[in-house]
Amino acid sequence: MGKQQDFVLRALEERDVRFVRLWFTDVLGYLKSVAVAPAELESAFAEGIGFDGSAIEGFARVTEADMLALPDPSTFQILPWRTDGPSTGRMFCDIVMPDGSPSYADPRYVLKRTLSNAAEKGFTFYTHPEIEFYLFKDNPVDGTEPTPVDSSGYFDHTAQSMGADFRREAITMLEAMGISVEYSHHEGGPGQNEIDLRYADALSTADNIMTFRTVIREVALSQGIWASFMPKPFTEHPGSGMHTHLSLFEGDVNAFYEPGAEYQLSKTGRSFISGVLRHAPEITAVTNQWVNSYKRLIGGGEAPAHIAWGHNNRSALVRVPMYKPLKGQSTRIEVRSLDAACNPYLAFAVILAAGMKGVEEGYELPREAEDDVWALTERERKSLGIDPLPENLDEAIGMAEDSELLAETLGEHVFDFFLRNKRAEWAAYREQVTAYERSRMLPVI
Ligand code: GLN
Ligand code: MG
Ligand code: MG
Ligand code: MG
Repeated sequence: MGKQQDFVLRALEERDVRFVRLWFTDVLGYLKSVAVAPAELESAFAEGIGFDGSAIEGFARVTEADMLALPDPSTFQILPWRTDGPSTGRMFCDIVMPDGSPSYADPRYVLKRTLSNAAEKGFTFYTHPEIEFYLFKDNPVDGTEPTPVDSSGYFDHTAQSMGADFRREAITMLEAMGISVEYSHHEGGPGQNEIDLRYADALSTADNIMTFRTVIREVALSQGIWASFMPKPFTEHPGSGMHTHLSLFEGDVNAFYEPGAEYQLSKTGRSFISGVLRHAPEITAVTNQWVNSYKRLIGGGEAPAHIAWGHNNRSALVRVPMYKPLKGQSTRIEVRSLDAACNPYLAFAVILAAGMKGVEEGYELPREAEDDVWALTERERKSLGIDPLPENLDEAIGMAEDSELLAETLGEHVFDFFLRNKRAEWAAYREQVTAYERSRMLPVI
């Protein structure tokens, strides 16, 4: 038995843990959980806990449904919101097949495989997400417009804004689960907040994002309010994104840093950006996976709608931040398309794969967009070579379908399932007659 496994088994006794939740993520990014008694854990570490993969979104064909969840002891934490009575612990799991091979459907494995491809080239991948979300007075189950908990705006700190208390409690919980928070503030929309997680390797960050969503929801519930990561809950207020800062390291050295270069950005950094830009149309279905995601990417609201990069340009898809004193280790790029309703494992995998493609093939970086890309005319953008991101899920699926990069990165099974599922989502959306259409037409036609 490994040291970390020993540590977990000892912690179970010392902390009077009665339940251990084994967590994993389905292909669409929903958290799944099975609770086991501590006595089962030794065998869970050795053999895994069996479950019916065909009942999990995107996991298996019915004929090969048996799968095992193998807990990763390095992710063990006590759930801090279960304070009454004995404690509950949790661990993330890797999913394996009965023969012990990794499951082709496990998003955590998709990311691990992509990370190990980069590791073969000598790179580790670090990410730092800025996670935005709205707080509502309640959850309008009937689909009507929700009521935000306050009417504050960007960086506001007023007595009536719920945000400050909420953030204090949420951050305390996150820190109790070993997730370090770097910044937090009220965002631009009423009831909208942002919490930024500290830089970490991409696998830990993806696990942390899954935990984050759960913690934020639990804290909201405990305060009698409702939290949502829906990308665009309001027509007239900004959407919720998950801008992600990222860089590659070679050992202890930031591979994006080159002293004296423009923006201190190395050839590797430039080619990485270039890869993300060139493959952006194909990977957007994964970074922005819902019908609703595209209502955020419409131009404005500080969300990107076009494929361009810049250093101080909030309309760009990729930004090279300049506001930190440019110490080499902090050189990084910010990808601004992602929303927090993505599957973080798959989204990080496709961004890394796109960037690495640029690095491997030595893509040249196109010219920086110096203007506000939203304000240019279509014609001006065309002459600058700035293409739009997919405008809706249907377009994004179309681009994804033809992508070798995506098929390779997700693997055949996840690729097929994902596209099938997303086509069904689009078809269901297409048949809806909306309140917008009725209010436009019934009075006059
Ligand atoms: N909410 C904006 C988005 O959807 C970002 C706002 C900001 O962080 N500057 O991307
Ligand atoms: Mg921010
Ligand atoms: Mg923000
Ligand atoms: Mg940002």
